[in-house]
Amino acid sequence: MNYLSTRGEPTRRRFCEILLEGLAPDGGLYLPEHYPQVDDATLTRWRTAYQTQGYAALAFEVLSLYIDDIPAADLKQICDKTYTEAVFGTRKIVPLKKVEDGLYLEALSNGPTLAFKDMAMQLLGNLFEYELARRGEELNILGATSGDTGSAAEYAMRGKKGVRVFMTSPFGRMSPFQQAQMFSLMDENIHNIAVDGVFDDCQDMVKAVSNDLDFKRQYKIGTVNSINWARLMAQVVYYFAGYFQATTTNAEKVSFTVPSGNFGNICAGHVARMMGLPVDKLVAATNENDVLDEFFRTGVYRVRGSADTHETSSPSMDISKASNFERFIFDLIGRDGPRTQALFGAGLAKEGRFDLSGDPAFAEAATRYGFESGKSVHADRLTTIKDAFERFGLIIDTHTADGVKVAREHQQGGVPMIVLETALPIKFAATIVEALGRQPDRPPQFEGIEDLPKRVIRMVADAGAIKAYITQSCT
Ligand SMILES: *Cc1c(COP(=O)(O)O)cnc(C)c1O
Repeated sequence: MNYLSTRGEPTRRRFCEILLEGLAPDGGLYLPEHYPQVDDATLTRWRTAYQTQGYAALAFEVLSLYIDDIPAADLKQICDKTYTEAVFGTRKIVPLKKVEDGLYLEALSNGPTLAFKDMAMQLLGNLFEYELARRGEELNILGATSGDTGSAAEYAMRGKKGVRVFMTSPFGRMSPFQQAQMFSLMDENIHNIAVDGVFDDCQDMVKAVSNDLDFKRQYKIGTVNSINWARLMAQVVYYFAGYFQATTTNAEKVSFTVPSGNFGNICAGHVARMMGLPVDKLVAATNENDVLDEFFRTGVYRVRGSADTHETSSPSMDISKASNFERFIFDLIGRDGPRTQALFGAGLAKEGRFDLSGDPAFAEAATRYGFESGKSVHADRLTTIKDAFERFGLIIDTHTADGVKVAREHQQGGVPMIVLETALPIKFAATIVEALGRQPDRPPQFEGIEDLPKRVIRMVADAGAIKAYITQSCT
């Protein structure tokens, strides 16, 4: 399998070449040259593999189609080591829970940090360790987080050989639970840096360091952000696992509703559908930050400035532009690299928007690719959380509530609707208390984590300061 850039650069690359990279050199995102097709017999074989051998076996089948520069036995071992009951809590790894007839939740949030990002990040940690050892290299991951990404990255990389993590976060702005999750890690290779400032300040520091190409090269600075193809690929697997649990034959179709921010999670659904998974609709659910809903309704993609990016009670979807969206648009417009470059490159930077409403391709987003969308706001979230608790005894997280609200508006008789559960409610307890007047359940392993000793340093928002800290930590 070869990988290309969405912006038309002609070089083709292998999986392990793009594994440790972010963007392609031309600023595009990597995608496979084609989507491997899964026929009926293969789908049946995978269904049996998942049911009898488990999620790791299914992951190996899917990943083998995209990775041909890691020996099969090694890849199998990496999958087996990643997707275990010990790490993800159940043998099924992503169990499907019935809410009511025709409506299901797929539980993606039982990994170490209780959010779906663990599904991909845990694999990434093992792939990084494997590839760095093979090359005899080291990597310093530098990131900025306002919550879920940072903790998922740290729990995936803790104790991994050849990897250090430097994670900046805005001082005092994450939920107490999220702070406790990250700062209680005592691993030598994990560095928590609380910055005096807001999330944008953290991101600016990371950008400034990455733009210093000499420093970046000398200190092997890398990232784990959501545009990494390996993360997307890992997420494709649970669309298959959800399908196998909701159906008994390959003649049946299902739809998915996905709480969306950067379009990473749902883009994996698009890839699964392109491979031939019988998916009817892919419904993107947004919060008040409705960049994606606006596009699917109108054909206009309009990024927001930070002043127009709302802070909401589903904060992991508070985005102003959807960094993975370029992948879908590339497919939508017939994999036209120069046109993707024109839409997402200088044009978007200058105009802040593009308009496909007059393009015949736009209609195909719904008719050919199955995309629909909807929006959910704070009041909807509270109502949905309350309703799920009162009628079904389920406590759902705020992001998942956005999904359930939108899913109900797009359900069709006879087609199971699967909502991806993207986090557990304990991560966003304040809103649960607001909706239900009670605390969400806390998994036993997180009992009392707020009282554990913390390992974090405080820093001014200054790129020079973090460079000095990295330099000192690498000697
Ligand atoms: C990251 C995240 C999302 C958004 O996922 P994208 O891949 O960015 O669309 C939704 N919910 C939770 C809980 C998350 O952590």
